Amino acid sequence: MSGRPEILFPLFAGLTKLDGIGPKTAQTLEHAGVVTPRDMLMTLPVSGVDRHRRASIRDVVPPAVATVEVTIGEHHPPRTRGRPYRVHVEDAQSSFQLVFFHARGDYLQKLLPTGQRRIVSGKVEIFDGIAQIVHPDHVVPVAEAEDIPAFEPVYPLHAGITQKAMWKATRSALTDAPGLAEWIDPNLKKREGWPDWHAAMALAHAPQATSDLSPHAQARARLAYDELLAHQLTLALARAASRRATGVASAPTGVLSNKVLAALPYKPTNAQTRAISEIAADLKTPLKMNRLLQGDVGSGKTLVALMALLGVVEAGGQGVMMAPTEILARQHLDGLRPLAENAGITLEVLTGRDKGAARAAKLKALAWGDIHILVGTHAVFQKDIVFNDLRLAVIDEQHRFGVAQRMELGAKGRAVDVLVMTATPIPRSLALAQYGDMDVSVLDEKPPGRPPVQTALVSIARMDEVVEKLRKAVADGRQAYWVCPLVEESEVVDMTAAEERFKRLRATLGEGVVGLVHGQMPPADKDAAMARFVAGETKVLVATTVIEVGVNVPNASIMMVEHADRFGLAQLHQLRGRVGRGTAASTCLLLYQSPLSESGRRRLEILRETEDGFAISEEDLAMRGAGDVIGTAQSGLPRFRIADLERQAAQMAVAQTDARALLADDPKLESDRGQAARTLLWLMEQDKAIRLISVG
Ligand code: ADP
Ligand code: MG
Repeated sequence: MSGRPEILFPLFAGLTKLDGIGPKTAQTLEHAGVVTPRDMLMTLPVSGVDRHRRASIRDVVPPAVATVEVTIGEHHPPRTRGRPYRVHVEDAQSSFQLVFFHARGDYLQKLLPTGQRRIVSGKVEIFDGIAQIVHPDHVVPVAEAEDIPAFEPVYPLHAGITQKAMWKATRSALTDAPGLAEWIDPNLKKREGWPDWHAAMALAHAPQATSDLSPHAQARARLAYDELLAHQLTLALARAASRRATGVASAPTGVLSNKVLAALPYKPTNAQTRAISEIAADLKTPLKMNRLLQGDVGSGKTLVALMALLGVVEAGGQGVMMAPTEILARQHLDGLRPLAENAGITLEVLTGRDKGAARAAKLKALAWGDIHILVGTHAVFQKDIVFNDLRLAVIDEQHRFGVAQRMELGAKGRAVDVLVMTATPIPRSLALAQYGDMDVSVLDEKPPGRPPVQTALVSIARMDEVVEKLRKAVADGRQAYWVCPLVEESEVVDMTAAEERFKRLRATLGEGVVGLVHGQMPPADKDAAMARFVAGETKVLVATTVIEVGVNVPNASIMMVEHADRFGLAQLHQLRGRVGRGTAASTCLLLYQSPLSESGRRRLEILRETEDGFAISEEDLAMRGAGDVIGTAQSGLPRFRIADLERQAAQMAVAQTDARALLADDPKLESDRGQAARTLLWLMEQDKAIRLISVG
């Protein structure tokens, strides 16, 4: 595919080709991201003004826009400077005034000749008991009444361009726009009653009523779907390309995993069983697995990962699991090694702390295939590490890893199957947008028997009370986390806050009762502090958000979050997930600084109301918008011009299914619809995707 299809040329011409757009206006628009007639068309009206003709303003309840035919009466130029120029007019049933400030008399005489009839439209107001329209939006001769649309679209404006100019330019962009062959599945289009692309554009730019501006209006829904489909096609192409990078078929026998399951004191949840079999099915095919395992904190992702790792070991290969921190890697080691030993296989750990001869020995064992499963930090992917037969890489808690690191994995020797685990539940629409190139398994069920975590909001002003309660709880043998605020995006400032709190709590609760971990500590100290807390030697662990992810201390049943108002909802949910892991009733106290803003309070209340991470993420999305939930920059989330991820979640799922189905039938996009889909990709500037087709 050599380049943009000719039929799209008018849509990608310079803006100055459009009526009423000179070089200066074009520049203004370009600064606002509107660079082509295509962009112009994709900028839909945000609202509309009802300008339907009425006989008189008499029944209008001011202030409101009215459009009437009037007979022009006398002009009253201002008698003193700074006063307005008034023109008396009469409609069929009443009289009122048109008011102009700083107007030139001769211009107004020409615009509004006394004795003649004109159509005027503008906002009717009452001033000093007299009805008036200040600076009418439209004044046209009766013969040109059609120039005032009954419902006038209002565009998002950029400084230096008027509504009229936007309207005119959009009209001419529409006139130049081609009709395009259909890329949408015909059944879907018929079911939704969607118009063709060009007709949809024309309709979207000529709303007849407010309802036409709704995202559910057919024209708009279609145009939004076009964007979603283009995005999902891109992801589907990426998925297809990565699956082609052939993995090895690893048929799990169940020999090892059954042994491990039999030794467990519990049974897997239905969700775990489902995820385990979805993964096993992927491992069996020679296509490369690229799967996301989404599960709330405590939903038991580790077991699913272990089953997957055992699956490739059963098939004669090796597996690796990468955790984002040293603490987590060690924790996985502690949790998984006994299970692995029980099954008769070798599990080792490798982190940045492995040095010299010990490290060399591990590398040798890996290369020989004597280590079956390796867990560790990103150190497991250092250049000199060679596996004998690596088949599966599990990446735990991936939100700490960049997408780039995910890619790096693929480059590690032969294409390995990849399982990414995330404990950050994100709304389905975002998951589809962000991870649409992956297949997704969801753990939407928690192991039974966990008591709910009681969550309360407490003002920081009541600190003394809180510390006193903590003292009592500690005396009762409970353990607590105390998380210190993220003051700035600065580890050093965080550390100071945590150290300060540590000193104070130690003074109150006693020497040896309180521990401290933060990101700036030497790793060995960090581990030691963690270990003391896990062993129950220290009762209170003061920490920065290093404990946010994954840490599992079942006896800890109290979570204090200082300045909870400074954390994101997802982060607070993560933190709370550190408690409620044992059988004891747990408490989470969200300490806030008064006064809380309205939205700040609402956010914290959501946490009090539910422990369902998916529900929390949906609320977070509704309150903050898509970009903020994930952080648009690193999320790879597309910026849609028309589609709205918050409101069109269901359509995103349809688009994904549709895109994958289209590619399954027509992998090279050669059919008529496939060709049309290529045009869509060009239209939506998905050049990355277009390159992926040519590879195929
Ligand atoms: P996460 O999804 O947050 O990584 P983990 O894998 O750490 O969760 O599991 C949390 C805890 O639940 C662990 O102590 C684990 O042993 C336990 N667990 C996992 N699956 C089950 C189950 N099916 N029934 C009971 N407990 C389970
Ligand atoms: Mg985990």
